[in-house]
Amino acid sequence: MTREEVLNKLCTLCTEVSKKRFGNSEASDCFCPQGDISRLIAIRYGLNFQFSDKVIAFIEQAVKEKLSKGKS
Ligand SMILES: [Zn+2]
Repeated sequence: MTREEVLNKLCTLCTEVSKKRFGNSEASDCFCPQGDISRLIAIRYGLNFQFSDKVIAFIEQAVKEKLSKGKS
């Protein structure tokens, strides 16, 4: 996969978690390298970027649970 594809996948995953788990009440701003230049500049410099640690914590927990169950 390219770097862009990886970022797009992870960004989509975060958006899905935010929406389905938290009903969009937790911020998960897009960070994939698509989109207009103004947003890319904002991402590059971290301007107006909002992202809840709860979204990442949920993904971390889910992955750890999966890993602890071994191969499946
Ligand atoms: Zn995105």
